[in-house]
Amino acid sequence: MGDSSHQKLAIGIDLGTTYSCVAVWQHDRAEIIVNEQGNRTTPSYVAFTDTQRMVGDAAKNQAALNPTNTVFDAKRLIGRRFSDPLVQSDMNLWPFKIIGGANDKPKIVVNFKSKERHFQPEEISSMILTKMREIAETYLGTLIKDAVVTVPAYFNNSQRQATKDASKIAGLNVLRIINEPTAAAIAYGLDKKERFDRRRNIFVFDLGGGTFDVSLVTINKGDFEVQAVDGDTHLGGEDFDNRMVNFFVKEFKRKHKKDITESPRTLRRLRTACERAKRTLSSTSLLETNVEVDALFEGIDFCSTITRARFEELNKDLFTKCLEIVEKCLIDAKMDKSKIDEVVLVGGSTRIPKVQQLLQDFFGGKHLCRSINPDEAVAYGAAVQAAILSGQVFENSPGIVLRDVNPLSLGIGVKGGLMHIIIPRNTSIPTTISVDKFTTVVDNQKKAEFCVYEGERTRVGDNNLLGKFTLTFPQEPRGVPNVKVCFSVDDNGILNVSAEETRSGNKNGTAIINKEGRLPMKEIERMVQEAEQFKADDERYKKKVEAKNALEIYIYDIESFINDEEIGLKLLPSDQKKIKDTVEKASQLLDVQQLAEVYEYDHEKKELEGIMIPIIMKMSQDWDFSADRSGAVSSNKGKKWKSIVKNLANLSI
Ligand code: ADP
Ligand code: MG
Repeated sequence: MGDSSHQKLAIGIDLGTTYSCVAVWQHDRAEIIVNEQGNRTTPSYVAFTDTQRMVGDAAKNQAALNPTNTVFDAKRLIGRRFSDPLVQSDMNLWPFKIIGGANDKPKIVVNFKSKERHFQPEEISSMILTKMREIAETYLGTLIKDAVVTVPAYFNNSQRQATKDASKIAGLNVLRIINEPTAAAIAYGLDKKERFDRRRNIFVFDLGGGTFDVSLVTINKGDFEVQAVDGDTHLGGEDFDNRMVNFFVKEFKRKHKKDITESPRTLRRLRTACERAKRTLSSTSLLETNVEVDALFEGIDFCSTITRARFEELNKDLFTKCLEIVEKCLIDAKMDKSKIDEVVLVGGSTRIPKVQQLLQDFFGGKHLCRSINPDEAVAYGAAVQAAILSGQVFENSPGIVLRDVNPLSLGIGVKGGLMHIIIPRNTSIPTTISVDKFTTVVDNQKKAEFCVYEGERTRVGDNNLLGKFTLTFPQEPRGVPNVKVCFSVDDNGILNVSAEETRSGNKNGTAIINKEGRLPMKEIERMVQEAEQFKADDERYKKKVEAKNALEIYIYDIESFINDEEIGLKLLPSDQKKIKDTVEKASQLLDVQQLAEVYEYDHEKKELEGIMIPIIMKMSQDWDFSADRSGAVSSNKGKKWKSIVKNLANLSI
């Protein structure tokens, strides 16, 4: 230690929702750095008390005693608006308080040193990043400034920007923000050099503590490209813990007739024990483990066991859901699963044997990449990237070029409220695209306002407004000014927009992009889903109307049938009455203003048919539709009866 090369050391940080991890490239390999507790990952927790602030294991360990001032999941808040529906629904699950601050930014409220304090999500994340930096500094015995920090592939501009800000607050110089699946793929790619030789499709399956992300990454001669992403923002290890907690809550109730859910502290202690049991069940060959908590509730000691089979059974539907998302991602990417060269496991929850088995079966028995610890792969890849960017020499590594894509289309609003896309979704970044075909729509127009949007919908109103800027023109007839708009997305996925009137050279239209205003990918997905939901609702409505109409027509036919003089004479009075009563009952459903359900209309119609069909069958035996016996019924009428009888009784006569 102490030689000058240490000054160049740069670290890789995986800033996770539930756990974070730091790594460094040294002696020709990436090393995961252990924290002061000897753990290779550190809980992304920050706690405040009357006397101190704690980060990591210390914060998580006291969470049960101090729930309202123990903050976690800051990654779910970072770069989002307070009014974001995801934030609103997450808020209900957190024991700490969130309020809306300036610019609709969420703020975390805690009691610290006997005072109420408000923190931005970036500040909480910066405390975790600082902790990770300190872990590295203690281990390396030197100060560290440079770092590569990872974010989920679906993170949008403002979430990336906020993560960068958090790093700045932590005193780090961010060499680059890279995508987690890309980092994992790098870690994997470096693992065996020959894997770089040809184009390979890598499927990254990341099941962490609170989120599930899948990505399809292609590697081509050291060039990494994220092709498609999918996932679930609320699916992960914590859900598996909860299932086990609920299982034991019931057991406790059965054994002791007491409801422990009244006590958050008790639940927290049970949850900690469950997480430990879960890890034991997957990390050893044990098929059963004990769960013990002293004085869990009202002085009662809790002691029980859980088998691996039971654990799998409790989470069966969640595991199935993971595979459905895998399938959806492949469909979105239009790639058959046989085209996947490697499946890479990322995230602590992929240590669960059942998850591995299901995934392996899904990919037809394919070998899964497990050579790197799943909860360390992201930090490992980040450290590799940090070493490359900080100019450390690589004996072992091929020249890695990182290519990420922008997750959503970027464009401007044009006449008619339509979205004009400048940078399409999934374009490799960094990229710069200029379009110079914009002009004025009225004579002597002095200025125009440009609105920048993100999203996949045709109408700008359905997309997310990122910012606005105004450009001024020399006064000229409409269509004469020529505006060039330039969009550029940098290595970190952050957008910059500028515009220029090329004839006059007016460049006063540099965009001020609203950093707060970006919509998360999941939000856009929600909008798309909403549109699909609307479509499904329309379809259901149509079906109801059709069912109602069918019943109405049937009743109409019956009425014309029984009201006919000739037929009236032939009908037995008892049948006549039966028909009338049933028609009356069915008509009540038609009188209700609101539409009833399809099955209700169908039910009434079936009931009517049940009465009509036997009557008509019986009568039709002595009918002769071809000849008009009495002469009283015109041939036209004969035709009419034919069709009515056919409709009423489904008879072909
Ligand atoms: P993040 O979502 O923060 O990136 P990680 O990838 O580090 O999180 O995964 C954390 C989750 O992995 C936690 O829910 C933890 O309980 C779970 N986990 C860690 N080790 C194991 C294991 N051996 N078996 C099952 N789950 C595990
Ligand atoms: Mg992770």
